[in-house]
Amino acid sequence: MPTSAFPDNVDVKGLFPDELAAVLAALDAPAYRAKQLFAGMHRRLATSFAALSELPAALREALAARCRLTALETRRRVEAPDGTAKYLFGLADGRAVESVRIPEADRVTVCLSSMVGCPFGCGFCATGQAGFARGLSAAEMVDQVYRIQADLPAGRHVTNVVYMGMGEPLANYDAVVRSIRLLNHPLGLHLGQRRITLSTVGIVPGIERLADEGLQVGLAISLHAPTQAARARLVPIAKKYPLDALMAAARRFVRRTGRKVTFEYTVAPGRNDSDADADALAALVRGLRTLVNVIPLNPTPGFTTAPGADLRAAADRFVRALRARGVEAALRQSRGAEVGGACGQLAGEA
Ligand code: SAH
Ligand code: SF4
Repeated sequence: MPTSAFPDNVDVKGLFPDELAAVLAALDAPAYRAKQLFAGMHRRLATSFAALSELPAALREALAARCRLTALETRRRVEAPDGTAKYLFGLADGRAVESVRIPEADRVTVCLSSMVGCPFGCGFCATGQAGFARGLSAAEMVDQVYRIQADLPAGRHVTNVVYMGMGEPLANYDAVVRSIRLLNHPLGLHLGQRRITLSTVGIVPGIERLADEGLQVGLAISLHAPTQAARARLVPIAKKYPLDALMAAARRFVRRTGRKVTFEYTVAPGRNDSDADADALAALVRGLRTLVNVIPLNPTPGFTTAPGADLRAAADRFVRALRARGVEAALRQSRGAEVGGACGQLAGEA
């Protein structure tokens, strides 16, 4: 095979073993090296070609001359007293994203970013307020998990991954699905698909595609309002993907995957938490085996709320209103507020 058989400067971190085998073939290296290379990056979490000690030095040098290997730079790390930590990761182009590590007694969840910024501009979200630069590559997504894994105390492991950081995963579809398969790969961290959850603002074609992807990941849909008119005020992209189409896509996802869909509902007091809202939401999810995760609004610079409003109490009240109407609802313990790492607060500032 000619040495031009793969694109110049390809990022090997984003390739599956069979794709790595093609790169290695072009470099006249044996195919069995592909699995070693993959495991070196995705299980041993090597961050450079030089650190790939399972490969002969000559092959490491040949790879370094023709390819690149994404490794994020930890620019900043802040930890709250409960162990929740927010990381600012520098990317090769100088931009940055944030990720959050959420430890619990028996699990460690990583909340990762899928984009630098976000194009959908939900008014209450710091990421949306910051504008949009670009989607992340699969390698840039998985490496957020790897850097956090490498930073954990000995014996602790990342057990769950949620795509709930900066950006909209279903608007960066191919890279996100590739990153899921890399995280799930038996030669890598082998994270169970059922331990991975995507949160979407409601990109209907993305939900439909994901339903047919053959994955067993969880899906969370950011609802935030129970009627089309109210939702379109809080979530601008709802004008393009209306509520009835969104609910139809949610039902199809449940039918196709056998997994349940959860809904996220951020309570903005006075805007989406009336008794009529609770009635409409109960009617909307009736017959759908689901959980509504109610999130207290986290303050962001660009979204004003009634002064003195008790955001937590408003969310608590709305949970009770939903339960009284037979809806399974839970208050999401949004951790990391002390370090600016709670839902909706990630802005990727240096
Ligand atoms: N783009 C995706 C995933 C990232 S946001 C989405 O919108 O679903 C993860 C969750 O945090 C979403 O439900 C989002 O609506 C919510 N969120 C955004 N800003 C928030 C804020 N200021 N307070 C509480 N939740 C917020
Ligand atoms: Fe983007 Fe989600 Fe924030 Fe909306 S809530 S701006 S879709 S990251």
